[in-house]
Amino acid sequence: MALRTLDDFNLKNKNILIRVDMNVPIHNGQVTDSTRLSRAVPTILEVLEKGGKPILLSHFGRPTRGFDLTMSTQQAVTALSNRLKKRVHFASSCIGETAQLAVNTLPEGDVLLLENTRFHQGEKKNDPEFAAELAKLGDIFVSDTFSTAHRAHASVEALARIMPSCAGRLMEEEISRLENVLSSPKKPVMAVVGGAKVSSKLLLLENLISPMDKIVIGGGMANTFLAAKGYNIGQSLCEHEMQDTARSIMENAKKMNCEIILPIDIVVAKEFAANTNCETLPADACPADSMILDAGSQTIKLIHEHLKHTKTVIWNGPLGAFEVPPFNKATDAAAKYVAELTQSGKILSVAGGGDTVSALNGSGSADKFTYISTAGGAFLEWLEGKTLPGVAVLTS
Ligand code: ADP
Ligand code: MG
Repeated sequence: MALRTLDDFNLKNKNILIRVDMNVPIHNGQVTDSTRLSRAVPTILEVLEKGGKPILLSHFGRPTRGFDLTMSTQQAVTALSNRLKKRVHFASSCIGETAQLAVNTLPEGDVLLLENTRFHQGEKKNDPEFAAELAKLGDIFVSDTFSTAHRAHASVEALARIMPSCAGRLMEEEISRLENVLSSPKKPVMAVVGGAKVSSKLLLLENLISPMDKIVIGGGMANTFLAAKGYNIGQSLCEHEMQDTARSIMENAKKMNCEIILPIDIVVAKEFAANTNCETLPADACPADSMILDAGSQTIKLIHEHLKHTKTVIWNGPLGAFEVPPFNKATDAAAKYVAELTQSGKILSVAGGGDTVSALNGSGSADKFTYISTAGGAFLEWLEGKTLPGVAVLTS
């Protein structure tokens, strides 16, 4: 697959629209993990070095009704500026007069970040008219978000179709590194899938059954499976209407010899708060007034046992609500063990996802994995062998 790249264009004195991923974890207005910002830096600096003006487009979160201050990309400006060591200006809209004025007055050597593309309905609809509004702001479009390449959204797909476009350096790196490790992975290969985006990721699991020998299901995702097995899960995060899908995934996995590993013990609490009272119980014993917030120590042992007999591990989604201690225990323990096995050459490890990477950084293990991707969902869809719309549009 030949991607068009920055090498194919003369960037001098051109306005370069760059789709980046500024969708970083934020707590009390502070960026808590800036991995995605750091990974966006090489393309932006290369554009500057070659005399282009970088105009950055990004989504942030999942706004449903237009503007929402908590999802403004402005929150990433300071952290991005620190990473780039350049001035980053901000425009409070990604289209129209405000955006155009900000582009026209952008001083040479500086960077412009535009407001959240998802504040406009046209973004998720891949609307050609919205894409045309974005296109007015630049001469060349550089797509540098593998992490959103699975979505046919306007700033990912339509925009790349209607103007001269190419992949950024991060997009190139993500695809070549993932291909290196995963196009014919060393077997047995195991996926670890956790986190909270149950409805979007549950369907992906179905398609992982065939390429994977084993799948560990943890975090909020596991609750839907435990409920599907008839266990009480109390107040836990769960998508009850997805239970049939969960049951069919378990049945298909059995037929196709893919082992599904669910928590055998759980850490439960009555409230989701730091260092609150919690207890470890068997997986079928969550009290009606409590919620499952992490996997227990027996589950950690079980996961370690499976890791020991695995050659390649692919991980998206934390095993518990890791942001709040002590619910980071299972994620931390598994991350440290994968890091150790990777460092001693026993396993190849790839992890991706905004929160996953933040959790791995928190446990000090991210830099010990074979490869860390900025992508979560996109990386799972890529694994299924799907053509990602945001990548296909960049091939010549
Ligand atoms: P990623 O960003 O890596 O793709 P997700 O966004 O799917 O991952 O999921 C991360 C979130 O899942 C975290 O905020 C974490 O607190 C949450 N989570 C994990 N396990 C649980 C659980 N048992 N209950 C509630 N939330 C959970
Ligand atoms: Mg997330």
